[in-house]
Amino acid sequence: MTSPQFKLPNSATPYPESYVQAKDTRLLMARAGANDMLYAEGQGPLFQELEGVVEQNVKICPLTSDNRRIVNRHLPFTRPSAFGREHATLGLGDRLGLCSDAHLQAVKGHPIKPILAQQSIRELTLMHRNYDQVMDAAAWSVLRNGWHEGWGADGDHLKQDEEVAMALRAGCTMITLDCSERLGKKPDQAEAVGDFRALPEDLRERFIGDYLQQTDARGLDLIFTEESLAEIVAVYWPAVEFAVHIWFELLEGAGRAMDYEISLDETLATTPPAAHYFVANELTKAGVSYTSLAPRFVGEFQKGIDYLGDLDEFSEDFVAHAKIADAFGHKISVHSGSDKFLIFPLVGLHTANRFHLKTAGTSWLEGVRVLARLEPALYRRLHARALDTFEDASAYYQVKADLSKIRPLSSVDDSELPLYLTEEDSRQLLHITYGLLFDDPQLASAMMTAFGKHKSAYDAGLASHIRKHITCLGL
Ligand SMILES: [Zn+2]
Repeated sequence: MTSPQFKLPNSATPYPESYVQAKDTRLLMARAGANDMLYAEGQGPLFQELEGVVEQNVKICPLTSDNRRIVNRHLPFTRPSAFGREHATLGLGDRLGLCSDAHLQAVKGHPIKPILAQQSIRELTLMHRNYDQVMDAAAWSVLRNGWHEGWGADGDHLKQDEEVAMALRAGCTMITLDCSERLGKKPDQAEAVGDFRALPEDLRERFIGDYLQQTDARGLDLIFTEESLAEIVAVYWPAVEFAVHIWFELLEGAGRAMDYEISLDETLATTPPAAHYFVANELTKAGVSYTSLAPRFVGEFQKGIDYLGDLDEFSEDFVAHAKIADAFGHKISVHSGSDKFLIFPLVGLHTANRFHLKTAGTSWLEGVRVLARLEPALYRRLHARALDTFEDASAYYQVKADLSKIRPLSSVDDSELPLYLTEEDSRQLLHITYGLLFDDPQLASAMMTAFGKHKSAYDAGLASHIRKHITCLGL
């Protein structure tokens, strides 16, 4: 479907799906040597604005952030957007900036919107990347694949005003506010009640009226006592105030629709349904247009492996949270959602497919799987380095991996290396050490070269792995 008059240099291999016409400018992406380039032909503002070299009437443009922003302005489908409360959305963190093609293949044909750009400050720091690069990788992939179905960009787990402002400047359409540092410490009961009674009188009376004297909390079976309310206020009220502040200070006036996610999950204490209700009710009363809320569910959501815990207990807890979400109309968000196949059917079922699920690490692990299969020598290098750096990396992530259970590399044949990607302890080892592996410049460059060389194998494996998540969710 490339335009017949579009003359690419002979050496370039076009991506046919990328062909698009915007007014009098025609665009086509193509592989030229080791890089993808954007080729523009025609006339008009888009053609004029793009930065590149003109050869035989075709402008050859590198995939810079500036060129991406120009394409974004002229072709709305290449810009991220917000999806609101009714769509199922899938967070697809891509720490390498290589995975969006496979992510798009995976969601194609399924009623779920891809949040292609999704990085936390921690991930950016560990990978020495910035939000512009994250947006570039996603937006160019959207153009390369001719994807017109919409995509989102999530400034993930942001904790400070300045971090939110930075994500907004980069064009994010979703902000995940990590309230973990604002959650109060759980006081003992007498202290909580004392603090509650010492609240400003009008606030205390409103809380009493809204929670203790109501008999029907939106039809939900929730009972508050002064003690339980006092505890919830002590822990969650500071987080609510922070979320309200961020909304009115930064998001309400952003000038575009935003998906605003409130994350309560990065804490050791599970979120009681009554606390979920309290947070949702307070945000709603304050006039905050939040989209989703991420409670900390019962059980363990460890990196890179399936759910750990009692499934009946999870189901009961999840249903209680899903009912609250339904009552307020917001979506439930499930974090650390990579590979949680045991619970996906419950998530799809009990939310009637109004949920957000975040994944990230699994996309990196699929890349490692390709290396284990096709680049055994390189895999051995990265595995050895992962073992060396595991202790440092575990400062960032909660994992249970026991290194003594991982078979020594020297005892494993090349053909068996991929088994490391199926065993829990080695999966977690490889999952959490990515940042430190990329701190070794030689190893980093060898890995990136190998990912490039085996891109079609990586894409195929990753697309099928993410599709497994989607089917298991019931979509
Ligand atoms: Zn989280």
